[in-house]
Amino acid sequence: MSEWVIDARGGVCEQCDREYRSRSSHWARNQDCTYPDPEDDYTDIIRGCLLSDGSLDNPNDGPPALRIASMRRAHIEWIHEQLGWLSRGITRDDSGAYRLRTLSHPVFGRYWTWMDGPPAEGWTLSRPIARCWYACDGGLEWPGTSTRPRAQWTITDDAKRAACKRVLREQDYDPMEWERRLALSFDETECFLEWLGEPTPGSGYKWTLDRDEYERRRDLVGSVQ
Ligand SMILES: [Zn+2]
Repeated sequence: MSEWVIDARGGVCEQCDREYRSRSSHWARNQDCTYPDPEDDYTDIIRGCLLSDGSLDNPNDGPPALRIASMRRAHIEWIHEQLGWLSRGITRDDSGAYRLRTLSHPVFGRYWTWMDGPPAEGWTLSRPIARCWYACDGGLEWPGTSTRPRAQWTITDDAKRAACKRVLREQDYDPMEWERRLALSFDETECFLEWLGEPTPGSGYKWTLDRDEYERRRDLVGSVQ
């Protein structure tokens, strides 16, 4: 059984002041209360999650919901905060993974196509999307005896890797690609991290250019439960 470590399912409706146990079913059942439209506020974080290992489902044939998981609690709590009222909270399963699930919401319907890979048109790699994507799926590596790191992602899906390469190029990066991986040059890595800005909670080690420090902080995050 998974246990809720952050439970945002219940609350009080801002529109009718009534308490609910499930926000989405309250809105679905009450004609006077309607789904707020999260489109503008949450577009980047939704895209960032879907560019990473987030996925959509709709087990009850209703509007879809977004799921995303991580072994890093501070990281998943950060995503929870970014998603605001869309997040239902976070559970932790027997494997130790933290799992975030959003409520079902019509806004996710327009992202179904992302399940086959990020679309070829209609979006660019904005800074907030890139920051979420790197925090979720990116990391640094020091090839050979190099003292400088390069940012890299392992992306097994061919269509997704091609899309990521394309949007990085649109931002004037020239990613290297081999063995299902994308990586930036040493110089580009430093530019990229500077562009992203402040490290996100639970992912600070990914902004650390010193190898020993990177590994020490990464292991520390992994061991804090
Ligand atoms: Zn209401």
